[in-house]
Amino acid sequence: MSDSTSPLTLSNFEEIPLTRLKGIGPKKEKALKSLGISSVLDILMYFPRRYIDRTNEAKISSLQVGDEGMILVEVINVNKQRTRNRRVIVTATVTDQTGNVTITFFNQPWRERQLKVGSEVIIFGKLDQYRGEFRMVNPVVDLIGDKTGRFIPVYPQSGKAGVSTWEFASWIKDALDKSKARGFAEPLTKSIREDHGLISRDNAYSSIHNPANLGEMLKARKRLVFDELLRIQLLLVARKRQLESSTRGISHRFEETFFNKLLAQLPFKPTNAQLKAISEIFDDLHAVHPMHRLLQGDVGSGKTLVAIAALISVVEGGKQGAIMAPTEVLAEQHFTGTKELLNNFSLPDSSNLMGERLLKIALLTSQTSEKEAKGIRTQLAQGEIDIIVGTHSLIQDSVDFHDIGLTVVDEQHRFGVDQRAALQNKGSAGTIPDLLVMTATPIPRTAAMTVYGDLDVSTLDELPEGRIPIITKRIPDSKELWDEVKREVDKGHQVFIVCPLIDENETIDTSSVETTYQRLRDNELSGVSLGLLHGRMQASEKQSTMELFRNRELDVLISTTVIEVGVNVPNATMMIILGAERFGIAQLHQLRGRVGRGSVQSTCYLVSDSQTPETVTRLQALEESTDGFHLAEVDLEIRGEGTLMGTEQKGKNDLKIASLRRDKEWVEHARSVAKSLLDSSQKVQDISLLVEEMNLFFKEEEVEYLFKS
Ligand code: ADP
Ligand code: MG
Repeated sequence: MSDSTSPLTLSNFEEIPLTRLKGIGPKKEKALKSLGISSVLDILMYFPRRYIDRTNEAKISSLQVGDEGMILVEVINVNKQRTRNRRVIVTATVTDQTGNVTITFFNQPWRERQLKVGSEVIIFGKLDQYRGEFRMVNPVVDLIGDKTGRFIPVYPQSGKAGVSTWEFASWIKDALDKSKARGFAEPLTKSIREDHGLISRDNAYSSIHNPANLGEMLKARKRLVFDELLRIQLLLVARKRQLESSTRGISHRFEETFFNKLLAQLPFKPTNAQLKAISEIFDDLHAVHPMHRLLQGDVGSGKTLVAIAALISVVEGGKQGAIMAPTEVLAEQHFTGTKELLNNFSLPDSSNLMGERLLKIALLTSQTSEKEAKGIRTQLAQGEIDIIVGTHSLIQDSVDFHDIGLTVVDEQHRFGVDQRAALQNKGSAGTIPDLLVMTATPIPRTAAMTVYGDLDVSTLDELPEGRIPIITKRIPDSKELWDEVKREVDKGHQVFIVCPLIDENETIDTSSVETTYQRLRDNELSGVSLGLLHGRMQASEKQSTMELFRNRELDVLISTTVIEVGVNVPNATMMIILGAERFGIAQLHQLRGRVGRGSVQSTCYLVSDSQTPETVTRLQALEESTDGFHLAEVDLEIRGEGTLMGTEQKGKNDLKIASLRRDKEWVEHARSVAKSLLDSSQKVQDISLLVEEMNLFFKEEEVEYLFKS
């Protein structure tokens, strides 16, 4: 353990109380606690929000009216007035020896307290002239205390807690001064640091809080980002290793005979992305550790084919496969499609005179009659069914497999982790079946690696050839669209109309889509054959409506978002989304993906008259791009990144400095370092210091469990 001269570990800093710092008494301690800061470690990890570069400083006399500029000034006087209509105006005169400026704030009474006479402040604003005086209205103000550096950190300050940025600066400086003698313990070897161009932790902490210039700050940031991501990746990789070593998977034996047969009879050529994903999956199937893989691909990228390739290979190896969909409609669709594709596949069967039997696929949902379901369960248990397609019914306890080898879960975001686990427990003789999770909710690769760190990822980043990108247009009013709909129907095409969820309350939601349906049927779209689909309908009703639409007996389908996932009707070429501002980017993209599946130009209309900046940005992003991965990044940007690691862990592990978007490549660096650190065959260094740190940021039991030994 550490003696009193060895370098300080993060745990050491965590143990030092805040009151050890100059200027922090019980009152400030309490205020800091309300900001989640309760140790010296916490305050050292309270990173600046931004920096003021004083090399950009201007003199008042050099500014022209209309210029924006940053001036370093002293406050000469302040006063507060109330206008006749009870608005508060705070004005202050500031000077930098070359001239004076009046700064004016409307409706910010607290500025009077902030701007103490005699204090030095940095002001950023636009110079104008009012009644002959130079003035800045509502400028940005930073109080810098007696800072003299060229590059000044600005901390997120909290008016409510009453802690200012310069107080943070002085406490952090004190903490850094007081730890200089011992310095920060370095958990990374020199060679790792050199490989990735990382400065020492010691330098990183002092430079992030007090950089001499921009370059120094960026280097410090890089090191701290790496530390943060490495801790997460160590945990995720360790979790995955643990899973692999504690479980026995199936090493499937197949010669890709079925796959080649499938390829030969496909009406199209698989994309390179599909072939790559299939080969990654085949490698996993051959290997003895259980596969745990996420297949992500934008809507229409052809995930189903990849799943079928995997399923038939497992069947070729003598095992059973299951594919689970989130809705009845989708399960049905998978069943029909798969059955058609595989209708001439057969398997060796010694109990049969011909020596073989046809590959058998069955469908099991809550719609299946109890009698039929019973039969299916028996056949599954006896190995007479090779591939089972279903919904949640598949994870019921009464379903037993003879020898399940692979489970495919489609549209993963509808399934919880628990449900995944339940399916994986259905293997025979203690083996864990392989798992393939498919999602169309596009997650940027790096975010996927972070969030689903225990899953490997295959990505379909390429659409099949010949697809014509959907044209997306924003329209303020749906009035002008109905004639367009009729024209589209006259051309023999079909149209989706989606109504928004007005309220979480299903009744209101339903009445909105019903009202729209009745109105269009009786007025704007009379004479067109319309169908209605919403979540409150009976499953059988939903199914038959979908069936009618698929068979082109309905021209237009008016629905809620129940059609969001997976539904494949290539003849549908127009989608109208009403109240588009009520949907998120991912959902709109997902909905839009229901059209553009054939070889005809498709159009999506986003109907919304909302002008809020957020809506405008969102809808514009959809108009400009059909790339789900790009849109996911835009979405991440708009929504911020928030907590990634779920709720179980300590709040401490929220990303403090790394940004999944900005630091994408560093997620990969950190992952590869984590892998080599944990690779026992070539252990490159003692990781006890890192493990000790992880204890600070994650749940101890889990870290202890994963890193015991
Ligand atoms: P998703 O990834 O959204 O689940 P699907 O698997 O439903 O996409 O595929 C969408 C459509 O594209 C289907 O009609 C499918 O038959 C077709 N498809 C899949 N792969 C290809 C390909 N390589 N070339 C042409 N069409 C393809
Ligand atoms: Mg799909």
